[in-house]
Amino acid sequence: MRSGIPVGRFFGFPVRMNWSILVMIWLFAWSLASATLPAAAPGHPPAIYWLAGICGAVLLIASVLAHEIMHAVIARAHGIGVEGLTLWMFGGVATFTDEPKTPAADFRIAAAGPATSLVLAAAFGGASAATAALGLGPLAVRVGWWLAGVNLLLGVFNLLPGAPLDGGRIVRSILWSRSKDRLKATVGAARAGVVLGVLLIALGLLDFLTGRNLGGIWTIFIGWFLLSAARGEQQQAGLRRLLEGVRVQDVMTRGPRTAPGWFTLDNFVDQYVMSQPHSAFPVTDIDGRVQGMITLTQLRAVPAEHRATTRVSDVAIPLERVPRAEPSQLLIDVFQQITPDTGGRVLVFEGDRLVGIVTRSDLSRYVEVRSVSPGSRG
Ligand SMILES: [Zn+2]
Repeated sequence: MRSGIPVGRFFGFPVRMNWSILVMIWLFAWSLASATLPAAAPGHPPAIYWLAGICGAVLLIASVLAHEIMHAVIARAHGIGVEGLTLWMFGGVATFTDEPKTPAADFRIAAAGPATSLVLAAAFGGASAATAALGLGPLAVRVGWWLAGVNLLLGVFNLLPGAPLDGGRIVRSILWSRSKDRLKATVGAARAGVVLGVLLIALGLLDFLTGRNLGGIWTIFIGWFLLSAARGEQQQAGLRRLLEGVRVQDVMTRGPRTAPGWFTLDNFVDQYVMSQPHSAFPVTDIDGRVQGMITLTQLRAVPAEHRATTRVSDVAIPLERVPRAEPSQLLIDVFQQITPDTGGRVLVFEGDRLVGIVTRSDLSRYVEVRSVSPGSRG
């Protein structure tokens, strides 16, 4: 979802577009050009309808971008870093480097988007009414009203009170300012998101089964997306609660066995992989400096007949790509870094000295023990 083609910077924020946005532009342009516009202003050649349809669709994407940019502008004003904005099938996503520090900031950042959409709806509506009053271009008037309608829908939909929608963030900010407990507020907003997702799916099903229109499928789709995103936020919040105050040093495996980078893979298999219970090894050079990490995945990628001539350091994940942490760091911050494509582990350094390793199984064991132990807050 976060992937996309970079299309430039707006207000200083890098913007990416997912390919799915092209599908949306086509779909909107097509529905305008083939149905909405010919019905409103008959008698034009198809090319004119398509031109107007594409203009409308592109202006709609620009409206979605404006919504996201306003989230980002307000976030930046509150000292929050913005990684970038991505446009995709379901609208836009602004990615921030950190979370709002106060309920008031949370509220303002969330409200900025829907407010923008509602202002745009009013602006497009006003412009269309003015154009119509002057008796100019019925096609432009129809596209303008359509843009007003869709922006109104975007504003209202995003205000629905469940995470991850903007309305859910607003709910969170209110719960947060009441309870002073941000995590509890996050859980509450995510729960509301789950309910909202289920409701939308039910509504869509009803719409579809009563055969009124195919729009029901779209509602089901959006409900499903909301439901899974809200569930993800619930899990994330549960995990945060479980790992509150836990540091890397509490769960890491100390003094991990390292593998010599100059060994051939054959020797490495004989002397390390076969005789050790581990499936990942930090790799050192001849002076004992850590160069990277090797896991069974890198090993498997080399055909057996080449293992006698390939060295461990040739296939190891280079150190700059291996997630690293310090013993005193909070575990939850390290948790996000553990992904399969970086070896599924985090190396723990004290200065330049390797002191430990955190694996996925270290984490899941810790989470399991914590969740069954008496006095657990999970
Ligand atoms: Zn928004």
